[in-house]
Amino acid sequence: MKHDFIYEALPSRVVFGQGKLSTLPAEAERLGVKRILVLSTPAQVKWAEEVAQTLGNASAGVFSQATMHTPVDVSEQAVAYAKSVDADCVLGLGGGSTIGLGKAIALRTGLPQIAVPTTYAGSEMTPILGETKDGVKTTQRTMAVLPKTVIYDVNLSLSLPVGLSATSGLNAMAHAMEALYSQDRNPITSLYAEEGIAALGRALPILVKDTANAAARADALYGAWLCGICLGTSGMALHHKLCHVLGGAFDLPHSETHAVMLPHTVAYNMHAAADVISRAARALQTDNAALGFWELGRRIGAPSSLRELGMPESGIDHAVALALKNPYWNPEPLQEDKLKALITRAWGGEAPV
Ligand code: NAD
Repeated sequence: MKHDFIYEALPSRVVFGQGKLSTLPAEAERLGVKRILVLSTPAQVKWAEEVAQTLGNASAGVFSQATMHTPVDVSEQAVAYAKSVDADCVLGLGGGSTIGLGKAIALRTGLPQIAVPTTYAGSEMTPILGETKDGVKTTQRTMAVLPKTVIYDVNLSLSLPVGLSATSGLNAMAHAMEALYSQDRNPITSLYAEEGIAALGRALPILVKDTANAAARADALYGAWLCGICLGTSGMALHHKLCHVLGGAFDLPHSETHAVMLPHTVAYNMHAAADVISRAARALQTDNAALGFWELGRRIGAPSSLRELGMPESGIDHAVALALKNPYWNPEPLQEDKLKALITRAWGGEAPV
């Protein structure tokens, strides 16, 4: 165990359980807010309208244009809308894209946020905001974007499609995995990480067969919450960096890219971080975490190759060059030939080595 560390707990209030969206009026009152703007993607606008209706006089309306990677122009439209309806709070109802929009509004206006996550991405637990302008994504860490209250209502995850459940779950597990070997790892976050991986590892194989299984959904959402804390309280390394590079350069889908890359990035670090990676293996009830993640991915039908996500083979060298461009910490130092071998295997859908 590491005996020299800093742990900073993040001050969010979490309400967790089945049907907990019903606590929203009480939670709003607790925050002292009276005009809540509900945010969603176009796909979840009906959900947002229902929530706005439930809020009655405390609703300031719905803004339903949340978009993947938080484009700045959408955030600016949303800020203008929030001001025009005199909102005093924003509520992000959805996955990382919608919660990202809530954060972008909070950053620009200082409005408090309530987050109601419906995927396993974990953004609601982090003081991190990634925004895109002119095709370039920049990420910042500031407490100004951390939601004040998070309502995890298990019922809202029941409809999460099987494919997204699988990839979003692996995306969450990647936060925990990297927290375990992070440069600034600490024993508290490591507890969350191991428990988060174990909960998702148990739940995902059940819920891909039985999507509305409430107990498995609760387990998965609980795991996703813990994995979100890992992302919020630890620095990340090779895995997140590579997914960021690949997503940005080849416009690859977020959670699917994480799902493909996870076994390979764990394998890359297997030697340098063997002691802590063994905790992930224990959580997955296997003796090899890289193969454990690989086998879990196959069991739950996650994509296995960057090729099937739309990356051209000719992009492999470009991806390696981008990943090496700004050096960053990783347990195993970055080496061009090893990195190329990793991306080539991930591109072709081969098992991790
Ligand atoms: P997403 O939010 O883009 O959602 C994908 C689609 O699924 C959307 O159309 C959404 O409306 C729909 N959806 C969400 N929940 C659903 C449900 N329960 N039932 C049916 N449909 C549902 O996907 P995501 O993977 O959650 O988020 C990805 C984005 O979040 C990326 O932009 C990523 O960079 C960001 N992210 C940020 C952080 C952070 O800490 N800042 C952390 C993780 C992810």
